[in-house]
Amino acid sequence: MAGEFGNPEIVQEEVDILLIGGGMACCGAGYEIMRWADAAKKSAGVDLKIKLVDKAAMDRSGAVAQGLSAINTYIGPEQDPADYARMVSNDLMGITRDDLAYDLGRNVDDSVHLFEEWGLPIWKTDENGERHDGSQGMTPLKDGGKPVRSGKWQIMINGESYKWIVAEAAKKALGLDRIQERVFIVHLINDKNDKNRIAGAAGFSTRENKIYIYKAKAILLAAGGCVNIFRPRSVGEGTGRAWYPVWNSGSTYSMAAEAGAELTMMENRFVPARFKDGYGPVGAWFLLFKAQAVNANGEVYMQKNKELLNDYPPYGQAAVPASCLRNHLMLKEMKEGRGPIYMDTVTALAKMRETLSPREVKHLEAEAWEDFLDMCVGQCGIWVGENIEPEKKNSELMPTEPYLLGSHSGCCGIWVSGPEDVGAPTKEEYDGVPAHLPSGWNWGYRSMTTVKGLFTAGDGVGASGHKFSSGSHTEGRLAAKAMVKYCLDNKDLKVEFAETPDQIAELIYKPVRNYLEFKDYTTAIDVNPNYITPKMLQFRLQKIMDEYVAGVATYYTTNEHMLNVAQEKLDMLKEDAQKMRAKDLHELLRAWENYHRILTAEAHLQHILFRQESRYPGFYYRADKNFVDEENWHCFVNSIYDKNTKKWTCFKRKHVDLVDKSK
Ligand code: FAD
Repeated sequence: MAGEFGNPEIVQEEVDILLIGGGMACCGAGYEIMRWADAAKKSAGVDLKIKLVDKAAMDRSGAVAQGLSAINTYIGPEQDPADYARMVSNDLMGITRDDLAYDLGRNVDDSVHLFEEWGLPIWKTDENGERHDGSQGMTPLKDGGKPVRSGKWQIMINGESYKWIVAEAAKKALGLDRIQERVFIVHLINDKNDKNRIAGAAGFSTRENKIYIYKAKAILLAAGGCVNIFRPRSVGEGTGRAWYPVWNSGSTYSMAAEAGAELTMMENRFVPARFKDGYGPVGAWFLLFKAQAVNANGEVYMQKNKELLNDYPPYGQAAVPASCLRNHLMLKEMKEGRGPIYMDTVTALAKMRETLSPREVKHLEAEAWEDFLDMCVGQCGIWVGENIEPEKKNSELMPTEPYLLGSHSGCCGIWVSGPEDVGAPTKEEYDGVPAHLPSGWNWGYRSMTTVKGLFTAGDGVGASGHKFSSGSHTEGRLAAKAMVKYCLDNKDLKVEFAETPDQIAELIYKPVRNYLEFKDYTTAIDVNPNYITPKMLQFRLQKIMDEYVAGVATYYTTNEHMLNVAQEKLDMLKEDAQKMRAKDLHELLRAWENYHRILTAEAHLQHILFRQESRYPGFYYRADKNFVDEENWHCFVNSIYDKNTKKWTCFKRKHVDLVDKSK
């Protein structure tokens, strides 16, 4: 029986391994872990207890919820993982961990082969060069089948049910008894005897009045990236629309930071240029249909402004310039009044008509619609609602509000231990790294953070973007294997909580208490001097970040003074966050999502403030340091957070190339 609102039942459970999240990374971990757990039982007689918790329902949770039309990372037998690591590095302006990217590159195809085996239709090219929109009757990838590539690393899929298929395999491997859905994890718990070790996690049911407290030796924290810390372009009637999913609210970064884990590259953000208002994907248009983006006068700004790329060697001069620099060229047009920017679908389709039959062109147009239907059905709504026929009318493009993520084209996240066998540095060479943190890039267990027993994957792993859906799944699998090893190596470890269950419950239900205590003070429940609604608090956060921390309001521009003002306002917001109210379980979820967002936003701000340059022009500009300074800032910026003093410490870590970047 669940408790009552205001008096929740406390459910405690002890496991060996807890997986937090049910997205691509945790589905990968869920699938992989049982193989190693079963082996551990047979060989060492250790029966590991495993649990996965997701705040939503795994079939449609996380960033792949609506489906995808392409798998963005598939290396294939003809390509070299080192090339992949080179691409990741260039796109992220030179500061990524080659050990993580290379390791991913050499392992990722196996996950894609599994997806195909589980029923995901992958587009193929036959021996006559003809394309087939699906896998039926075609040679599987693992046996030499040829995927349809929309880019060097991307392959096309019929992916509306992608997440469902991947979740099904994870559920089957784990068994439903090991899965708990609709539990939002609020808080990680450190070990009483070693504050740099993980001991558990706590959260609440979003359906029943229950608090869940899990004791665990190893935890995989893979709760996605962070959306809605900046005021979105879609407001009012469009509220809730965003490019990355609004339900990924920074839980990964904030909970890791509070547990003491070292974060990395939190100054990095992703500002995708997408179809305006619907946030529909542009990849197929650029890569498959060879469309170009133009300004209002029909000029191709990537050609017109290409000399701007010379300001940022070598990242601007690569065959594909870094994503942020492509935005940089677009923003020049917008700032100088030559917007709107359009995807020139009319010319692209007309060109196709010169070489293809009407039937083939119709087929391609259908594919363009399917691209939206597979992963962003809202964009179809916009095209239909605005009478857009792509062969007759061009569509507007727009850079979005910033998002924080580590698996897509961004690299913020947590500092993790990499593979042992790729020649990564073993010793730190910079002063200023806090003494308790590990030296070098490997400290024993792949994907373990700097907190013992705490692992991450997908959007959680920093300094290594461009993993996407398949790569996140792969990272989950790598972490799963390492977690089993960690548990076997620490068979006799007994973790103890640094907090009592009652203290934890009190903390989690504080917004409920705020509401129950003060609700009768006024007659309008949303207006009360003693509490603030989560929605209003979120508006305040978004206003601060938008106006001072390089949101769309300032064309992504900030400076030291603006950042300091923002920090002062965030300090006050953090105080007020203690007064968020929750009138029901839904608001309790919203309250804690906001709490996680604030800490993530603060990390972002602090990192931008610390890095004395503008490393990602087109994503953000420090107007007072508007240059890339390779000499002093070609390094990682990392940080740790002290949950007692509520202060961030930022520091540099040396960057080393493991792959020759001159090739
Ligand atoms: P997610 O898959 O987002 O999973 C996060 C999980 O954590 C979810 O299950 C969520 O419910 C859960 N969660 C969050 N907070 C909590 C909490 N506090 N407690 C418990 N559970 C929590 N990849 C491609 O390969 N090709 C593409 O074309 C492509 N396009 C994309 C387009 C968009 C718009 C987006 C958003 C992503 C796209 N990606 C694409 C990238 C891909 O979706 C991500 O890389 C991948 O989903 C990241 O995996 P993850 O497990 O880290 O996070």
